[in-house]
Amino acid sequence: MIDKHLPLLDLHRHLEGSLRLESLVELADQYGIGLPASSIEGLRPYVQITEPEPDLMAFLAKFKWWTAVMVSPEVCRRLAYECVTDARGEGLDYLELRFSPYFMAEPHGLHPAAVVEAVIDGVEAAASENDLPVGLIGILSRSFGSDIAHLELEALLRQRDHLVALDLAGDELHFPAGLFSEHFRLARDSGLAITVHAGEAAGATSVWNAMRQLGASRIGHCVEARTDHALLDHLAEQRIGVEANLTSNVQTSAVDGYAEHPLVSFLEHGILATLNTDDPSISGIDLAYEYEVAAPAAGLSADHIRQAQSNAVEIAFLSADDKAALRRRAAGRSQCG
Ligand SMILES: [Zn+2]
Repeated sequence: MIDKHLPLLDLHRHLEGSLRLESLVELADQYGIGLPASSIEGLRPYVQITEPEPDLMAFLAKFKWWTAVMVSPEVCRRLAYECVTDARGEGLDYLELRFSPYFMAEPHGLHPAAVVEAVIDGVEAAASENDLPVGLIGILSRSFGSDIAHLELEALLRQRDHLVALDLAGDELHFPAGLFSEHFRLARDSGLAITVHAGEAAGATSVWNAMRQLGASRIGHCVEARTDHALLDHLAEQRIGVEANLTSNVQTSAVDGYAEHPLVSFLEHGILATLNTDDPSISGIDLAYEYEVAAPAAGLSADHIRQAQSNAVEIAFLSADDKAALRRRAAGRSQCG
């Protein structure tokens, strides 16, 4: 269960995977985008996971219908605004939201820089109206290769002051970290924090490379660390944050089922591991589901879950003062019932 005495954070959520099905249908109708079905229920099997996919790339294929409606920066702004508004509706106290500018721009040939501006505008408007602090994370997509990643990075660094971190996502198996070491050096030089998707579709070496070649202080997924005891020790000793996404890992077949997920062993190893959603609209979940259904199914006790919730504050890309403010706010809320 979620502990109301502690702040509730989601540190790993993709904008492109957190959109309203209603908006998808409405925008497709408005702009004449052909979708495989015209009703929400008819569309669901095409845009959501209904049973585990064979691998990460099959999971990522679901995104194509969501990005198909991103016809203009104005639409991107609207979708970002709705995403943050919905996060507030879930009771979050802080959200770290990530997006890949080229992934959003590519279907309709938008300029990545215009997408970055629109997303920032929508996120900041909703954050302010809903009194929900949001840290924005820019993503470089491995699957587009090194040159496009430079384009994404350039678009993101133009808005450096509106971002907290840089991430690397996409086809982990075929586009290893080393291809992007220059990009991440530039990002670190600009003062951005680094988190990297690793150990999801490739092995423990990919996690080591994310830290050694890219300077990651947090790892998204990290499932394959389970095979490498030296790596588990290193993650704990160096206080590297782990952004676990239980349902997503079941759906991409990174694990064979919730019970096979290594999150409990990470927590018991003293690793700062956390519970997050990844792509709630594609997975058909919300953060409460991960805490109340997925975490117990993965063998987490109430103490493990509380530890994961507390770890999220520890590893958030926030100042010590901001973390203290989140903790005070949660404590005050619980006293008021
Ligand atoms: Zn992710």
